[in-house]
Amino acid sequence: MTVAIIGVGLIGGSMAIALKEKSIAQRIIGIDTSKEHAEKAMQIGLVDEIKTLEEAVKESDLIVLSVPVDAVENLLPKVLDLIDQQIVMDVGSIKEPILEIIKDHPNKVRFVATHPMWGTEYSGPQAAVRGAFEGKATVICEKESSDEDALQLVEDLYSKLGMQIVFMNAREHDVHVAYVSHISHITSFALANTVLEKEKEEDAIFSLASGGFESTVRLAKSNPGMWVPIFMQNKDNVLDVLNEHISQLRKFKACLEKGNEEYLKELIENANGIRKIIK
Ligand code: NAP
Repeated sequence: MTVAIIGVGLIGGSMAIALKEKSIAQRIIGIDTSKEHAEKAMQIGLVDEIKTLEEAVKESDLIVLSVPVDAVENLLPKVLDLIDQQIVMDVGSIKEPILEIIKDHPNKVRFVATHPMWGTEYSGPQAAVRGAFEGKATVICEKESSDEDALQLVEDLYSKLGMQIVFMNAREHDVHVAYVSHISHITSFALANTVLEKEKEEDAIFSLASGGFESTVRLAKSNPGMWVPIFMQNKDNVLDVLNEHISQLRKFKACLEKGNEEYLKELIENANGIRKIIK
């Protein structure tokens, strides 16, 4: 089959590698607003050709939107306008606003809303990873809103990539990702800013930075072009989690201010409970 990948960055590029390796796609057409990324994707062999959106949609069986979520909102109705019987899927990190935009579109049944739960802090085609999705989970949202053949094709595709499929409605998805993904990025951005602020006074901090600091702050290298639209579109859920997180930080602060070692120990022991969920 011929697959058009709109946005040949980290996810689109990694998807392109996997689709070729698993012989799911025989031909991959790339579309990207960044001329530099489009050229790079060709040069490193992620895609076979670069075409305009109109040409690519016409010549493809499956169209994958792997652009930032604000761009998905603009592009998805346009792509649905252009298709005949082709299948369209996205990989965006937020689902409710995307599905809301197309709720009255006559071709919405050709669309499958998905979110593969894999990523790194890097972006662009050069960040694409071989074997990225193997053994990871992927979410398919509102499956009953898609045509049976469209859903089947997307399910087969993810199964061949070695992914475990989880079905959810869009609202549930957006709440869960606020907890498991969005808050950890905000915390990491805030921690990096805290240390960068301190570093003005204390150069030594970076030479002393150990594995613990590096792993906690890794996500702070992530691209604002991707994360600002995610936070804005999932604002209510992110604010809800952020309020809880701030109240947790306040508990630690109060323990230190009051010298309350007992409660500090209790807070840490309670946090250790995460071991039962993540080994
Ligand atoms: P990325 O590496 O920045 O790639 C996105 C690419 O799309 C860039 O080359 C970008 O060009 C291009 N682009 C932006 N607007 C476009 C448009 N209107 N038409 C065509 N191309 C456009 O981002 P990514 O990390 O792959 O993320 C892509 C999608 O995957 C997002 O919806 C994100 O929510 C989702 N996702 C990300 C992760 C993660 O951890 N990164 C995980 C799961 C899902 P410019 O750089 O010039 O804007």
